[in-house]
Amino acid sequence: MSIVDTPERRQLRELTRAFVTREVLPHLDDWERAGEVPRALHATAAKLGLLGIGFPESVGGSGGDLLDSIIVTEELIRSGGSSGLVAALFTHGIALPHMVAAAGARTGGSLGGRLTGVASPGDDGLIERYVRPTLAGTMIGALAITEPDGGSDVAGIRTTAVRDGDHYVVNGSKTYITSGHRADFVTTAVCTDFPGSGALTLLVIDKDSPGFTVGRRLEKLGWHCSDTAELSFVDVRVPVTNRIGAENTGFLAIMQHFAPERLSLATQAYATAQRCVELAMRWCRDRETFGRPLVGRQVVRHRLAEMHTRAEAARSYVHEVAARVAAGEPVVTEVAMAKNVAVAACDHVVDQALQLHGGFGYLRDAEVERHYRDARILGIGGGTTEIMNEIIAKGMGL
Ligand SMILES: Cc1cc2nc3c(=O)[nH]c(=O)nc-3n(C[C@H](O)[C@H](O)[C@H](O)COP(=O)(O)OP(=O)(O)OC[C@H]3O[C@@H](n4cnc5c(N)ncnc54)[C@H](O)[C@@H]3O)c2cc1C
Repeated sequence: MSIVDTPERRQLRELTRAFVTREVLPHLDDWERAGEVPRALHATAAKLGLLGIGFPESVGGSGGDLLDSIIVTEELIRSGGSSGLVAALFTHGIALPHMVAAAGARTGGSLGGRLTGVASPGDDGLIERYVRPTLAGTMIGALAITEPDGGSDVAGIRTTAVRDGDHYVVNGSKTYITSGHRADFVTTAVCTDFPGSGALTLLVIDKDSPGFTVGRRLEKLGWHCSDTAELSFVDVRVPVTNRIGAENTGFLAIMQHFAPERLSLATQAYATAQRCVELAMRWCRDRETFGRPLVGRQVVRHRLAEMHTRAEAARSYVHEVAARVAAGEPVVTEVAMAKNVAVAACDHVVDQALQLHGGFGYLRDAEVERHYRDARILGIGGGTTEIMNEIIAKGMGL
């Protein structure tokens, strides 16, 4: 039996599928046009326990581990959702973990504190003010690392936070921030020394803080149901109690939490590939050319076989690496390889699936068209394919 095929995980898969069928599919096209998913969807997903998967019950989560989160992500896409939906509805998956881990450091590691080390006086308060309401679906959070000057070079962050009594004064800007328009708070990476020094700290900044403005809604190739924002901070006063962990521990915290984010993106990639294989198979059975269904031709069957093989191989590898991460193994190189393997499989499959659909594949009416557009971000977000290769090369001792 596969590690993800336990009776509990089958149940989780069925719950997710029912959620997508009932709450998502009738509305997804409207949300794609509107450029965001409604807040009510967060509350519905929370009530079902889906929003809290992978977070401990002690902070308002539903329990479960990284593999359970992967099951939910996989099924959200395989049952007709999309990676854009995952990005919009599960932004808390990147906005909250640093807070949970830091509070865990304070309580002796029971909340996963091994990830960040030293706690800050505000960490327990952050759980009550941000983590619980977000997992209950009543608040939305975002994570802001990337800046207009660059995203790959995290240590080069130029947004500064200068201590002034019991506040920090934040100046700078962020861009491409997922859920930045809807977010009530933003977990923000700031530099607590001279700009570009790599001395990073994470602050939770409230949307209604004076001097914090959310800029224009960025229009994108894909992920249309996921709002993406530019953020600006001009002399924004942030209480010290909104600091996550100790000052200057932000870089380490960001790096440590890249593993689940990258595996989520890898999951979105292979699940998109699996969904597109299914769509292409259905199409090739139904579509007749020259008096025969497409699937009646060996060249088409072999193409589908190769697509299926790539998707399944990527899935197995991502699951294996995720199990090792869940067990606490330091597998940074393997995480990077899993992301690149899954993204490569996805890129190949979405392209081939669209081609097999012919002209219809190019139309907005075709689900495969959405996956083709949505997939392009997966090799960019959470660390690009090139940055993954840098990590892999380092792991090889190069
Ligand atoms: C839809 C969307 C949603 C996003 N959501 C978020 C979010 O919620 N929060 C957030 O903080 N960020 C978010 N991002 C930003 C994303 O993480 C960055 O775009 C990504 O990390 C790349 O950074 P960059 O765009 O600045 O590219 P750059 O860092 O400027 O890189 C440009 C190109 O150069 C390559 N490159 C860079 N350095 C090297 C090198 N050393 N060697 C070889 N090649 C190199 C890169 O691989 C890339 O191809 C989002 C982006 C998008 C498009």
